[in-house]
Amino acid sequence: MPVRSKARRPLIAGNWKMNGLARPAGTEFRKILRHAALPRRLKSEIVICPPATLLAVLAAFWRRSGSKRRVALGGQDCHPKTHGAHTGDIAAEMLRDAGAAFVIVGHSERRADHGETNAVVRAKAEAAHRAGLAAIVCVGETLAERDSGRAIAVVEDQLAGSLPAGANARNTVIAYEPVWAIGTGRTPTPRDITQVHGVIRQNLAKSFADGTDFRILYGGSVKPANAAELLNLANVDGALVGGASLTAAEFWPIVAAKG
Ligand code: PEP
Repeated sequence: MPVRSKARRPLIAGNWKMNGLARPAGTEFRKILRHAALPRRLKSEIVICPPATLLAVLAAFWRRSGSKRRVALGGQDCHPKTHGAHTGDIAAEMLRDAGAAFVIVGHSERRADHGETNAVVRAKAEAAHRAGLAAIVCVGETLAERDSGRAIAVVEDQLAGSLPAGANARNTVIAYEPVWAIGTGRTPTPRDITQVHGVIRQNLAKSFADGTDFRILYGGSVKPANAAELLNLANVDGALVGGASLTAAEFWPIVAAKG
């Protein structure tokens, strides 16, 4: 029986990764703002996570738009510390200063490319909370882990190790992103997604007083064609979208699929 909570407003988050130059990215973002400003019922909250270089650029458009309550901006990573000698890194406070309300932490590309452990991801989530940002904490198994029957154990381990004690449903969102589904056009079966999201929900409910209120996003090759099916599964409270978030033409039908 899926656990339902009125508090779980659906969230559709776009992860632009290392894509986007100011002019064309600004054009796409303004299209998203215009869609979101139309006077119609919109269940979902929308978050766009551009490269850090674009946050202030997009925040200027956002401030002038009529979509402030429906759309927010997010970073893609942050450093655990507030400031200091960390060349190339960005503090959560800096993201907030540039206009972010969210930050993705523990994306599998960061875990793989930068060796980020659960402890590092937890420190980053704590930094996000300290700065007043909501952390989108990513978990998900590799193909080898799924094929060897360890998907659930891996996700449970990442969840236990990556979430700080101060996490709650307002400052933390979970994104289940099987590594093998990211950018590949492959997705788990609805049954597999429902199973993993159900396990994540049970773990959250055990560990946090408001565990039934956390939003759990699915991420990995979400497209306009599969969005309605994926977003309506039990305990799927939205999506983290990579490739299909880069243009309003592909992203908006995914938002519309959740309503
Ligand atoms: C992601 O990288 O978070 C992601 C879900 O990518 P894609 O939608 O392109 O698979």
